[in-house]
Amino acid sequence: MAVSGFGIENLPYGVFRRGGPPSIGVAIEESIFDLRRAAEGGLLAALPPETREACAMPRLNELMSLGRRRWRELRAQLTELLAARAPAEPFLLPRADTTMLLPADIGDYTDFYASIHHATNVGRLFRPDHPLLPNYRWMPIAYHGRASSIVPSGTAVRRPRGQAKDADAAAPRFGPSQALDYELEVGFLIGDGNPPGEPVPVDAAEDRIFGVCLVNDWSARDIQAWEYQPLGPFLGKSFATSISPWVVTLDALEPYRVAPAPLDPAPLPYLASPAGRAIDLTLEVELTSARMRATGIAPFRLSRGNLRDLYWTPAQMVAHHTSNGCNLRPGDLLASGTVSGAAADARGCLLEITRRGAEPLTLPTGETRRFLEDGDEVILRGWCEREGLPRIALGECAGRIARA
Ligand code: CA
Repeated sequence: MAVSGFGIENLPYGVFRRGGPPSIGVAIEESIFDLRRAAEGGLLAALPPETREACAMPRLNELMSLGRRRWRELRAQLTELLAARAPAEPFLLPRADTTMLLPADIGDYTDFYASIHHATNVGRLFRPDHPLLPNYRWMPIAYHGRASSIVPSGTAVRRPRGQAKDADAAAPRFGPSQALDYELEVGFLIGDGNPPGEPVPVDAAEDRIFGVCLVNDWSARDIQAWEYQPLGPFLGKSFATSISPWVVTLDALEPYRVAPAPLDPAPLPYLASPAGRAIDLTLEVELTSARMRATGIAPFRLSRGNLRDLYWTPAQMVAHHTSNGCNLRPGDLLASGTVSGAAADARGCLLEITRRGAEPLTLPTGETRRFLEDGDEVILRGWCEREGLPRIALGECAGRIARA
């Protein structure tokens, strides 16, 4: 059984660079299987020409557009080649020697709000008497994010400047955000999309999802609080979003699919699906400050939660997103929204953990945090694990705050 979470049962896709042009790779333990060179070297000859051509591209979009039947053929072929090992050997590279890039050209990014615990915790800070708005239990709420500022794990995140207004101030100020936060999320990357005007039925919605990754939806709470009414988040979110480089397929996650929590009230028919399933995926967030790293102190765990606690399933998000006829395209990113659980140690952002700064947390160095300071690094991790089943990891999504 693979301990790393990158064993033969996972086989996530990513795009890497090692000197030359970018290539699609498949992670296997501490190695990357170079899919472009393997395709060019005739190793994938048993697959259709369009699959081989897609494998030789510098991004996943073409492979994503081929659809589930082709993805499964490729996965079966890769499993065979990497299990036999010898034929794959010439195309394996050490993962440590490569730079991971964004896995796809992401045309559009939509961020949902699918954790009822997060929505309730945040709502309570602003509306103690009725934290959950009336629409929440009827449809997956979302906003349109910014795709141009999505960056791969490891990219520094510059503290944004913006307009914010202190509660007792007569006028807003402009300057570096004083309430920079992270949001622990999971992203669903769209495979073959839907034509404009043709909604995806909820029962077929999972076939449109190529795979999942980790997402950190960095958020400037002071900018967000001042700008969000009446049209929602804008500059408080659009400065940066980090994603993990490896895309884990739904086929790899199959053993970890579970029944979702029952919805109350029952959803409208277009969102109701007996086939709807959640993902039993553990999610963890760690933080290191510059001082912690300088003194060799281990990362501080901020939270541990599980994706199965979402109120809405990925299939419901896709069905709702396309219900008005909106077309999704290969490489589009749909993020879950902050994943929080019912427990106090399962809150997926500092806004919830410190209750908007009112209850600062203390790091092992004695430093305190209401929100993120320059030099802080936030690391998201995700994995599936159960007795008797192979461990499947999403890897990590890290980002360090640079000064404004
Ligand atoms: Ca978010």
